[in-house]
Amino acid sequence: MLSSEHVPSIFFNKSRSIDETNLYDGDIDEGGANKTPYDIIEHDVTTLAKANNLPPPDSFDALQLGSERLRTIIAALHCNILVRKEDLVRNLDYIANILEAVHQDETRRLMEEDDGALSEIEPDSVPNEVRDWLAMTFTRSMSTIKRRPSDKPKFKSVAQAIRAGIMVDRYLRRLSIDIKFKTINEWTFDVFSVNEFTSGQCLRYVGFELMQRYNLPNKLHISITALNNFLEQMESGYSKYRNPYHNLIHAADVLQTTYQIIYNSGLMNWLNDHELFAMFIAAIVHDFEHTGTSNNFHIQSRSDVALIYNDRAVLENHHVSAAFRLMRIDDYNILSEFTPEEFKNFRHLVIEMVLATDMSSHFAQLKTMKSLLSMPENIEKSKALALVLHSADISHPGKPWSIHYSWTESLMEEYFKQGEKEKELGLPCSPLCDRDNTLVAESQIGFIQYIVEPSFVVMGDMLEKILKSLSVPDSELPSPSIPAKSIASSPSPPPSPKSSNDSNHQHDEDNGRERKPSSMTTPLPRPTIVRRPWIEYLKENRERWIREAEEEKRRKELKVIEEEP
Ligand SMILES: [Zn+2]
Repeated sequence: MLSSEHVPSIFFNKSRSIDETNLYDGDIDEGGANKTPYDIIEHDVTTLAKANNLPPPDSFDALQLGSERLRTIIAALHCNILVRKEDLVRNLDYIANILEAVHQDETRRLMEEDDGALSEIEPDSVPNEVRDWLAMTFTRSMSTIKRRPSDKPKFKSVAQAIRAGIMVDRYLRRLSIDIKFKTINEWTFDVFSVNEFTSGQCLRYVGFELMQRYNLPNKLHISITALNNFLEQMESGYSKYRNPYHNLIHAADVLQTTYQIIYNSGLMNWLNDHELFAMFIAAIVHDFEHTGTSNNFHIQSRSDVALIYNDRAVLENHHVSAAFRLMRIDDYNILSEFTPEEFKNFRHLVIEMVLATDMSSHFAQLKTMKSLLSMPENIEKSKALALVLHSADISHPGKPWSIHYSWTESLMEEYFKQGEKEKELGLPCSPLCDRDNTLVAESQIGFIQYIVEPSFVVMGDMLEKILKSLSVPDSELPSPSIPAKSIASSPSPPPSPKSSNDSNHQHDEDNGRERKPSSMTTPLPRPTIVRRPWIEYLKENRERWIREAEEEKRRKELKVIEEEP
């Protein structure tokens, strides 16, 4: 017989489960003070014969009991205490069942935890080296077990490691994007750097961010999967012709600028959720599948789209038609829960807005709006939103120089490519499309002076007229919950007093997300002067181009003098 010092302490069951203790209560503890460790192990071995009423292997209690019985078996083997073969086999089998249940459970848990991340990645698409690094870095097993060079990690652990890696990467990316998105309410939002941060997917990120900000998927019952699929298709449509300018960055830029205008002015409060959604979608689709060539090019080259749309707003008709055709497919149908009436209104708004981005209707659009401004009636929503979208579409000269300059370069490149196509087809070269003979600076000065500036003047006046129609004098207000001072001094956007009985009212002061749908009945006090951040930039950029033009002229004169014999 062994004395207590021959039995290693690890064999003692200090954490005996309540169930098992109760089961054998009285047998162990009676006169326990006189028992040696050997006696205790010998007694524990007798418990191994107990096969009835064991907790099921997949239960939490089984984990504790299983580990205790395994310890007893090890201690018995160590101390040469006989364990009956049938008890040994039955207990080891029970313990094996417990381990299998734990493994299944854990696998299921991991799969469920981030199924989304896994479904996006094909194991074969990840290089072996990256897999190994992820497995080594992000799983416990791979960092502790040294593998022979020929050993490949098992798929399950690799998948888990990749998921872990993706989670970390996504988290970091999300963090950086969040920092970038802090400026999404600003006129100076830098869409190029957001595009870099999102690995060339800025349209879907900006789109999602804005929809989520206003809780639109939830409120309008838009499937997140369909929205994601739709935005993905938008990005691929914008990338179809590899355009230097009319690409997904331009779409994201126009979307953010449109949003900024309605947010900054307070026009947001004039729109209900469906109208806001229509505005976002119109901006997203407004150049979908743009060919990088002008309507005139389509007409002159007698392209298919020109024939389909009879030379009228050829591209704009295509953008909106292709987008609606896409939304007809279940996977991309973001409108599936709209009532027929909601669909009709949404479609009307989107068509009106996108068709109004046809530059050939620019002067007519401005003239109509100017005359509406002088009338006492309220302005039609579709017309107002169309002018906002059109202005956003031509807004880049009103942005900081570095942003405006990048857009100018891209646009010129696209024009030059069209010029080359025209040359190939034997068509006359369109204005600004000749790479060897174009005055970039002059063209921008004209663009700012005759197109962009007048548009923004009319749009600014229109915003103020709409805001005036929504506001009432302070004296007529019941009792404002926000002091007048805070309203007057608010830089942007003008906050509306909270209404406790308005369930649709969203408020998020940190992000400046506040809006009231147009259904509100009580007019609210709002500043009717709209901030116009573009004015400064238009002026600065125009002056800069004037200096550039002078230099361009001087360079040309010098060249002529040098070339003279
Ligand atoms: Zn555009």
